[in-house]
Amino acid sequence: MTNLNATLPSTSTRSVTQSKEQRKYHPARSIPFALMHVTCFTVLLTGVSLKAIILCVAMYAIRMFFLTAGYHRYFSHRSFNTSRFFQFVLAFMGCTAVQKGPLWWASHHRRHHKYTDQDGDVHSPRRDGFWWSHVGWVLSSKYDSTDWDAMKDFARFPELRWLNTWHIVPGVMVAVFCFLIGGWQCLVWGFFVSTVILYHATFSVNSLAHMWGKRRYATTDDSRNNWFIALFTGGEGWHNNHHHYMASVKQGFFWWEVDFSYYGLRVMSWFKLVRDLRMPPRRLLMAER
Ligand SMILES: [Zn+2]
Ligand SMILES: [Zn+2]
Repeated sequence: MTNLNATLPSTSTRSVTQSKEQRKYHPARSIPFALMHVTCFTVLLTGVSLKAIILCVAMYAIRMFFLTAGYHRYFSHRSFNTSRFFQFVLAFMGCTAVQKGPLWWASHHRRHHKYTDQDGDVHSPRRDGFWWSHVGWVLSSKYDSTDWDAMKDFARFPELRWLNTWHIVPGVMVAVFCFLIGGWQCLVWGFFVSTVILYHATFSVNSLAHMWGKRRYATTDDSRNNWFIALFTGGEGWHNNHHHYMASVKQGFFWWEVDFSYYGLRVMSWFKLVRDLRMPPRRLLMAER
């Protein structure tokens, strides 16, 4: 009798093959990403002006806010409530950062929290190293689709599903807007340079904030608090705090932990744009330190 098992790769062979496939960079994703970086060098042709720098910084700050407040704290963690209209605004503005759709982004982030630094985590420097956790996973075909099982709560909104498919539209609108403001120079600084810096700032939360910084809470993962990352990611660098209590709208748990996205959301709550901001319970702030 033929031994069927002999014709199949062993479990260990299969997992090695699988992990090599998982770590392949996909050309269809890598080439546009590389071109975004190469285009930044055209600043050598367009030159620079105060207007272009201000536009670059403004585009960075505005889009970082909507990534962290919208994609992360709202769509991934539901750390506050809002109207259906403003929910769409958060999703639309988040798309301007050109980091795919809100449901795609949040579904993989929820997976990160479910399996942090374990098998199943989409970006863990402990398991996959710095580069893979920073950018490799985004450029692989493995994580190309939205994990709908993880997003059942938001998948019922057709306008969000539409935006999740046509996520590139708001990004193109930002590029056109920059061009109309100040031609090629403003397009390169306001869109390309700003977007590339935004990529690496966001990605550093997935990579560096699991490698570099202090651990206040004894979480089961490698998450760290890093003031430097927090400063340019609107508070996302307080990542050990965040893994300790992910439902909190603020990630800087103490007054000296700068968290610009939380300040922005607090101001929005005064104007009733957002409500029910979830705060960390005091006993948790003091726990497992
Ligand atoms: Zn993390
Ligand atoms: Zn999170």
